[in-house]
Amino acid sequence: MKRGLVLGLLVAVGALSLTVGAYQQPQQQGPKVVEVDKVKDNLFVLKGGGGNTAVFVTTTGVVVVDAKNPGWGQPILDKIKELTPKPITTLINTHTHGDHVSGNVEFPATVDVVVQENTKANMEKMDIFKQNNNRGMAKRTFKDKMTIGKGADQIDLYYFGPGHTNGDAWIVFPALRTAHVGDLFAGKGLPLVDGANGGSVLHYAESVNKGYNGIKNVDTVINGHSPTTTTWADVKQFAEFNQDFLSYAEAGLKAGKTPEQIAADWKVPEKYTGYSSQVAALFGGLPGRIQRLQEELGQKK
Ligand SMILES: [Zn+2]
Repeated sequence: MKRGLVLGLLVAVGALSLTVGAYQQPQQQGPKVVEVDKVKDNLFVLKGGGGNTAVFVTTTGVVVVDAKNPGWGQPILDKIKELTPKPITTLINTHTHGDHVSGNVEFPATVDVVVQENTKANMEKMDIFKQNNNRGMAKRTFKDKMTIGKGADQIDLYYFGPGHTNGDAWIVFPALRTAHVGDLFAGKGLPLVDGANGGSVLHYAESVNKGYNGIKNVDTVINGHSPTTTTWADVKQFAEFNQDFLSYAEAGLKAGKTPEQIAADWKVPEKYTGYSSQVAALFGGLPGRIQRLQEELGQKK
């Protein structure tokens, strides 16, 4: 209910003027319950309070991916204490959104925070870091690829181009054949595209495809918001889904239709079973995605 209300307000404010801060999910009332899914012996997903958080227990410490909404950092830290006595050494954020980075400010200041370089620039615009003396801000960045640790503890970070934002990182745990792909592939449905943070409808499928083709030996995928893991084959299908949407929207624009008309006629193609037909209202909803594409096509000329 609250989410719907807040989304409605956001739309009223004007989709194009949306800022990073506005994307934060509404605060939940009552206890902050973190649910744990075990993905592998030393890899867990913590659910609730925003995006999916991954917890990777290495020989020397704990690496965390994403830190949820404001106020959810401490519940994450408390839950990790139940899983392992090892200290948290590293926090990686998949992208800049408030439901993935806000809990950063509650982590110990000693923790190394790693993000893609565009994500750091986006995070620097966020009020939550300004309000917390920059605690939780990224300390290290990468452009296209970075490797942390080795052997069973190795983590590979990749960036393959704009999609959900201009800093969507793929976090790969090679020894576990598992990747956290954040909101680039949040779940099976049409993804959000945050144009103000450099997201791209035009390049979305291409960026997902580059990741699919550029990363080897992954079977299991942790998505930004999906309640269960997906597979590497699902990544390929998701790229196709986005390519199909791009072709559909481009054809509509070429035919002189308005974004609203194109949006009204859109249906999930039948072959994408299990895909949601619901399109989140954020960033202008479905017409907003098509407007973003229109802008991008205009920029290309
Ligand atoms: Zn996001």
